[in-house]
Amino acid sequence: MRAGIVGAGVAGLAAARRLQELGHEVTIFEGRDEPGGQVVTFDVGGEPIECFYHHIFTNDTTVIRYFNDLGLGDQLEWIEPNNGHFVQGKIYPFVTPFDLLRFDAVSFLSRLRLGLASLWLKRQEDWSSYENVTARAWMERAVGKQAFNAFWGPLLRGKFAKHADEIGMAWLHWKIRLRFGSRGGRLGAKETLGYPRGSFRSYYFALADHIRKSGGQIHLNTPVEAVATELGAVTGIRANGTFHEFDKVLMTTPNIITKRIAPDLPSDYVEILDRVRYQWASCLVLALDRPLSDVYWLSIADDLPFVACVEHTNLVGAERYGGNHIVYLSNYVAPDHPVLQMDAEEAFSVYEESIRRINPSFDRSWVREKWFFRDPGGQPVITTNYSTCIPSMETGIDGLYLSNTTQVYPEDRGQNYSLQLGERAAELMSEKDSVVAAAQGACI
Ligand SMILES: Cc1cc2nc3c(=O)[nH]c(=O)nc-3n(C[C@H](O)[C@H](O)[C@H](O)COP(=O)(O)OP(=O)(O)OC[C@H]3O[C@@H](n4cnc5c(N)ncnc54)[C@H](O)[C@@H]3O)c2cc1C
Repeated sequence: MRAGIVGAGVAGLAAARRLQELGHEVTIFEGRDEPGGQVVTFDVGGEPIECFYHHIFTNDTTVIRYFNDLGLGDQLEWIEPNNGHFVQGKIYPFVTPFDLLRFDAVSFLSRLRLGLASLWLKRQEDWSSYENVTARAWMERAVGKQAFNAFWGPLLRGKFAKHADEIGMAWLHWKIRLRFGSRGGRLGAKETLGYPRGSFRSYYFALADHIRKSGGQIHLNTPVEAVATELGAVTGIRANGTFHEFDKVLMTTPNIITKRIAPDLPSDYVEILDRVRYQWASCLVLALDRPLSDVYWLSIADDLPFVACVEHTNLVGAERYGGNHIVYLSNYVAPDHPVLQMDAEEAFSVYEESIRRINPSFDRSWVREKWFFRDPGGQPVITTNYSTCIPSMETGIDGLYLSNTTQVYPEDRGQNYSLQLGERAAELMSEKDSVVAAAQGACI
């Protein structure tokens, strides 16, 4: 089989590798100038770092498998970070579960309810029973309005903005389960996060190299204009004005792009793609001459223009980045949000006062450099009964497949699940190919 793949994010790379293992030819087309997709990196102080903050949890076993398979297992470092929650102008540490007892932004009873609700959810294995209730309704009932407003409410609003009240409890339930899973079983255990020396670029570059060495082609700076079809079957890909013939094509693009490059998709399939809305991801990244705080992941519950302040150099040392202290100010916004039109300087001037709320002595003279990154497929909006919104990998056009983050559920989207989806899509393409080959053999 000659397979064409649209996108060299981790799903596209995983699919290519699996297709090669199954004996097929692969060609990847990537619009950007490097592979990696949402894990893409840039350099600070001569060291690569992700444009959007990235780490893995101990239960991201597929990512760990990739590092080991590529001979990079010893590059993964496991770190217990200092996490915190910013509410009512104060940073509350959230490092061990006992910190919840000191969370005096809410009453003692509310703290107990917050803790008990999380413990309860951690033990529930059946996410499907939470499918038709919103996270807000379930949490307000479980922890009360005061605790919801100080803790879960702002986090949901930060990630999903005006869609926050539509988010399904199945998504939040599973997120809490997985986060607890990354703490190990011990009572009071700290969370452990993984981050590789040399950034995540090390593994996706190694994966891309492996694909090339195994005979695959990766065309960078080559956005796909259209997937071509004839009589309900895929025939190839048009990119940079050139037509490339393929037996099968896998798209790893967000739904919004998928619809544009595959205009022949059946209307019932497009209707499913349209059910999922996206929040854009935006990150203002600052390189500072000193730390902003001692917290790695600071969730923001106050009304600030960003939902998290992720100080990467509180996870790994600033010396790795030429002494720069790197802070991501992260937000998820609707596609028409004005911040998406801004450059780094403009976004900084909107955020500056709020940064000072986190550290009152912050001064703009601390900023050595700044960058502003955006991604249109940042976060699918995971509503109640989301399982009815998931597009199948088979698109209804013979030989045309889709693998993207809208298919990750009930887990929150992450590299681990994109790698798994890419592998599954490859296996499906190969399996269908064997069925067709067998049928053709039978006809002869
Ligand atoms: C802000 C943010 C933080 C995150 N943090 C974490 C984290 O801490 N840990 C974690 O594990 N995961 C994290 N993730 C999620 C993780 O990055 C994604 O789940 C994963 O990278 C998605 O991979 P993908 O291959 O499915 O999609 P993508 O990475 O979106 O890949 C799709 C690729 O298709 C390309 N493309 C689009 N259109 C075309 C076209 N027309 N022609 C050719 N190519 C095209 C794109 O350039 C891209 O490279 C984060 C994501 C975001 C946005």
